[in-house]
Amino acid sequence: MRTSDCPTTDSSEFLLAALEQASEAVVIVNAERQISHFNAAAEAIWGLSRKDILGLDTGCLGLTDLRPHSEITIRRTDGSQLRAAISVSRIETGGRDSYMIFVRDVTAEVERRERIALLNLVADKTTRAVVVTDRKLRIVYTNAAFSGVFGHSAEQVQGRQVNQLLAGPMTDRKTLARLHRRICDGRGQEEEILAYDHNGDEIWVSAIVKAFRNDRGRIKYVFALLSDVSESKQLRSLQQLIMGALADELPLVEIADQLCRRVEAIAPDVVASVLHVDSEGLVHPLGGPSLPEDYSRALEGISIGPDVGSCGSAAYHGKPVLAENLDTDPRWQPYKTRPLEVGLKACWSTPIKAKDGRVIGTFAFYFRECRAPSRWHQRIVEACVHLGALAIERKEARAQIARLAYHDMLTGLPNRAQLLELANQAIADCKDRQLALIFLDLDHFKDVNDTLGHSAGDALLIEFAKRLRARIQPSDLLGRLSGDEFVIVLPNCDPARASLVASHITEALTSPLWIDNRQVPISASMGISIYPDNATDIDALLQQADAAMYKAKQAGRSTHRFFSADMNRLAEQRLVISAALRRAIANDLLRLVYQPQTRTVDGTLYGVEALARWHDPELGEVPPAKFIPLAEEVGLIEQIGLWSIREACRQMAAWRCAGLDVPCVAVNLSPLNFQNAKLAAVVAETIKAHGLPPDALMLEITEGVLANERSAAIETMNEIRELGVGLSLDDFGTGYSSLSRLAHLPIRELKIDRSFMRDIERDASALAIATAVVRVGQSLNMAVVAEGVETEGQRKLLAALGCDVVQGHLYARAMSPEAFERWLIDHVATQARMMRASIDEARSQPTPSLLIASTGG
Ligand code: C2E
Ligand code: CA
Ligand code: CA
Repeated sequence: MRTSDCPTTDSSEFLLAALEQASEAVVIVNAERQISHFNAAAEAIWGLSRKDILGLDTGCLGLTDLRPHSEITIRRTDGSQLRAAISVSRIETGGRDSYMIFVRDVTAEVERRERIALLNLVADKTTRAVVVTDRKLRIVYTNAAFSGVFGHSAEQVQGRQVNQLLAGPMTDRKTLARLHRRICDGRGQEEEILAYDHNGDEIWVSAIVKAFRNDRGRIKYVFALLSDVSESKQLRSLQQLIMGALADELPLVEIADQLCRRVEAIAPDVVASVLHVDSEGLVHPLGGPSLPEDYSRALEGISIGPDVGSCGSAAYHGKPVLAENLDTDPRWQPYKTRPLEVGLKACWSTPIKAKDGRVIGTFAFYFRECRAPSRWHQRIVEACVHLGALAIERKEARAQIARLAYHDMLTGLPNRAQLLELANQAIADCKDRQLALIFLDLDHFKDVNDTLGHSAGDALLIEFAKRLRARIQPSDLLGRLSGDEFVIVLPNCDPARASLVASHITEALTSPLWIDNRQVPISASMGISIYPDNATDIDALLQQADAAMYKAKQAGRSTHRFFSADMNRLAEQRLVISAALRRAIANDLLRLVYQPQTRTVDGTLYGVEALARWHDPELGEVPPAKFIPLAEEVGLIEQIGLWSIREACRQMAAWRCAGLDVPCVAVNLSPLNFQNAKLAAVVAETIKAHGLPPDALMLEITEGVLANERSAAIETMNEIRELGVGLSLDDFGTGYSSLSRLAHLPIRELKIDRSFMRDIERDASALAIATAVVRVGQSLNMAVVAEGVETEGQRKLLAALGCDVVQGHLYARAMSPEAFERWLIDHVATQARMMRASIDEARSQPTPSLLIASTGG
């Protein structure tokens, strides 16, 4: 090359040629900023050809200001863009300024720079601690989170060995060694390890480590990502463990044990223990797997107090108590020996409180050094007292439920469920000996409840239970089944002894109980079944004893009866029939039939008695003598009675509407119907609803209604009488009603029991009773009705006695309403015919008495 002798123009040409070759883009502009040179590299950068550019303003290249150094973004015509570093040199040639602009593509560089800035930002913003060390684990970089987690500033840790800095006395050396291996194997697996912050407080970290190597494969840097998992994992896993144990309904001691073990795993320098504090303030160790067993056992039953160790004091004051040195702490003197022996020197206990604030337990940390709890210990305890409270409260609630579930709240006796369980146990223990089960039912308990009130009823049951308990052995079982039903189970007992026990109970009940300063007479009916003679399972024995108890009731109460096979059959039958009856009532399948009652004087209709009938599709016709007593036993009679009243009234109204003259309908009611205080109101409403006068209805009651002096039934009877509805005393002569009492009852009619009719013609005493009954009725101004009259002879006798009304097969059986209508029409016609005949007869041969009768009827 000819460098030395080249002329100026040549040299500028040379320069330009060199520029043309330069790898860097060069743009030369004159003082007016017009582009004078645009080299090949510049063409490449802008993607423009120089012929389109030369002479134009620099603005078209995006070069607006010509500072010595700047960076611009170049947008090419093809849409791509790049980042360019601009450096501008001013050149003076011939008194004229021109500018030489060097343009360098720095896109990649900028991107790298941005990425690094971003990474820095990320490293500082992340909550995970980032540490970069050299090959020898000396720290070269830490991010902001590292300082946040461990409390060391970046400057303080620069150059320090990372494992010396973060590991501490309880850091697991094996995990540390494993982490070291992870650096090299490059698998980036996480390890959880206990680290320590600048105060020496424990932090559980999850660590990921990774090595960065140089070109030759030697480790240059070690990168570690550390996250604080104390809360998120350790405490939560503790929580999950306990919640899981609670959900699995594990026993409390097991839950406490698991809790302690887990705590000791995440806080390796503590020995944990959980105590339960009961409502009496006594402690019961629940868990302390690392404490000496004899020490835990010795704590059982210790009373909490102001200076009782750490736990007893913490429970007493309801605040955490720290004993940093058991050896010298005055509260620990009586208890310190054993813990000191096993190297436990300090104890920090926190009360566990129920939702209502009661202290229900304590949670204690024992330490092997004289020390106070760390922040981490405090965090664990915060989480654990809550879990402990949950577990203990659950157990308390369950115990409460068990008490409720197994004990009768009123008497404190085992309830049905518990009784059955205990009885089953007794049966199992019986082997081949006998066992007796006594089913007791208080007589007339309902009356006590009704007349003296429920609290008196409750008091009576409590007293009754006490008397029973006093009459049996401690080994005998006594429980309350329900209401006024009790059961006694006598293990190892034959029928003779069972009978004796029952008699003793009956006897013990003969002296009345004192309730609210009032003497209340009581008695019980008892049924007895014997294992294994009657049955081998508790349900059957119970059912049999129940059936036998009914027999005792039927036998006049205040006594006992043994179960027999007959009763079993009856009991079963009763079950079947009562179910069918219940259905029949629900489906309105009962009917009423009507039996006429006629006056003896003239044979005219006095009224009808409505009698219930039940035809069951499977059982066939079930007689009322069977289903009525059953309905009384199983609680269906109330409904039947009310239904009879409604149905009879409906029928009466229908007859009246049809022009049939039926003066009165008599409806049979059970004594139980009169226990219903609303009976009178229902009756009033029913007759009103059917537009019937009150004397169109008669209610038949039996002497059972009067059995009880205090009975609310008398009240009801008076109310009914006030309505103008009649009351008739049915089956009179069979009971024990005293005449003086009868006189004071609001009764309008007596019905002589049909048992007297049978023999009235032959048997002088039957006639005497019938005569007496008629006289009683007459003297009390009551109508007297004889039922079961089958023969003309009976009718004549009764007429002669002055009995007003007769009812019986002689006239008609009970009939369906339609049959009765036909009978009535027929009867009226016959009456008329007879009347005419007698009038005719009287005309031909006058008889004064008959004349009076026909005109008076
Ligand atoms: P009860 O109230 O003494 O009814 C009279 C019973 O004697 C009826 O029996 C009737 O059919 C029957 N009888 C009537 N005349 C004669 C006769 O000349 N000879 C004979 N041998 N018997 C006669 P029934 O209908 O079988 O009723 C039996 C018992 O059932 C009734 O005795 C009554 O205590 C009860 N009962 C019937 N229906 C009802 C009802 O709707 N409610 C209630 N609580 N008890 C009812
Ligand atoms: Ca009757
Ligand atoms: Ca009767």
